[in-house]
Amino acid sequence: MKKIKDVNDFNFKNKIALLRVDYNVPVDKYGKITDDTRIKYSLPTINKIISDEGKIVIISHFGRPKGIFNKKYSLKFLIPILSKKLKKSIIFCPNVIGNDTKNKIKYLKNGNIILLENLRFYREEEKGDEQFSYILSKYGDIYVNDAFGVSHRKHSSITIVPKFFNKKCIGLLMKKEIYNLSIFFSKKISRPVTIILGGVKISSKLNFIKNFINIADYILIGGGLSYPFIKMDSGNIGKSLNNIKEKKKLIQEILYLKNNIIYFPNDVIAVKNGNFNNIKIISINNIPNNWKGLDIGPNSINNFCKIINKSKTILWNGPMGLFENNKFSKGTISIAKEIIKITEKNYAFTIVGGGDSIYALKMIKSIDKVSYLSTGGGAMLEFLEKKTLPGINIIN
Ligand code: ADP
Ligand code: MG
Repeated sequence: MKKIKDVNDFNFKNKIALLRVDYNVPVDKYGKITDDTRIKYSLPTINKIISDEGKIVIISHFGRPKGIFNKKYSLKFLIPILSKKLKKSIIFCPNVIGNDTKNKIKYLKNGNIILLENLRFYREEEKGDEQFSYILSKYGDIYVNDAFGVSHRKHSSITIVPKFFNKKCIGLLMKKEIYNLSIFFSKKISRPVTIILGGVKISSKLNFIKNFINIADYILIGGGLSYPFIKMDSGNIGKSLNNIKEKKKLIQEILYLKNNIIYFPNDVIAVKNGNFNNIKIISINNIPNNWKGLDIGPNSINNFCKIINKSKTILWNGPMGLFENNKFSKGTISIAKEIIKITEKNYAFTIVGGGDSIYALKMIKSIDKVSYLSTGGGAMLEFLEKKTLPGINIIN
């Protein structure tokens, strides 16, 4: 891959950077931010542009407002936290499009930062609309993409807006993500390489698994991701998650190729008729009809940890069970602790990505204890699968 330009290749003095970030941060039911990693990681790029005496128009999305204004998804809540972290005032612009916005941008002074409202209040954002993108492109002199977590999407602000710029580059977070994840493409990667996958987003993870059978030494599959495989392999999974639908062929293909690389749990923590007080440990292949597997069992934890322990490079995405409930969190937390243990002993290089996996690390106060924390879930897996992303290609 040819060297991609980043913010250090430009001097932003007297220039306006149109900066796409990913401030789609997790919030609790009161709208309070539960993890500000994505905001923290966006600061180096902002600081570089400001120290050049440039101006910044920040654009981002948040949640899924589906193309209409919805107070719940307004980006205004970011102003206090951003001002505090950057130690300067930030101008908020309640519209993405309009004369008021144009004027506010026109009168920006060097060192000023303006945050525009949620891009997804406009249907055009997710549609990759040329006209919408053209209007946005007039807001800046240099386009900067630092939104790794959405760079697998062909949305206006990711792949269409940059088409209208001569000067464009990636930000420092994007650069760091590419650098760290590219370890998996290097011939010098330390082996054994172990991939741990779980969670529920099976469709986005299957292609990745197939691809990594050729790269990894071990692939451990747990959580909601494991049951469709067990079922396809003639096991009884009872009421456990089984959202395969059109993906049957791919699952069969993976099962056919899996020899000695892919490992599944052998026991699970299951509940009867959805009653969280009626719990037992059973074989994953023989889950009775009214029972549902919600975590990996002690035997599986043991087997997975043994493999983690002998690994030199580890990538983890997706929890091993319904870890938000402490009755079903032991599998996920045990795996997380084992990963941290070998990282701290300097035995392995470890990468964790995905909103829920990061949340699991946060539960045990260990966010900064892995070698690298990726801000992308889907984006991380797609980057590893394709060695690039649509949002990176367009800069190149
Ligand atoms: P990530 O955000 O780390 O990429 P996903 O979004 O794919 O992970 O999946 C996370 C969700 O999967 C969590 O809400 C968790 O409760 C759920 N989950 C994992 N295993 C199971 C299971 N066996 N049954 C039900 N839900 C599960
Ligand atoms: Mg998730």
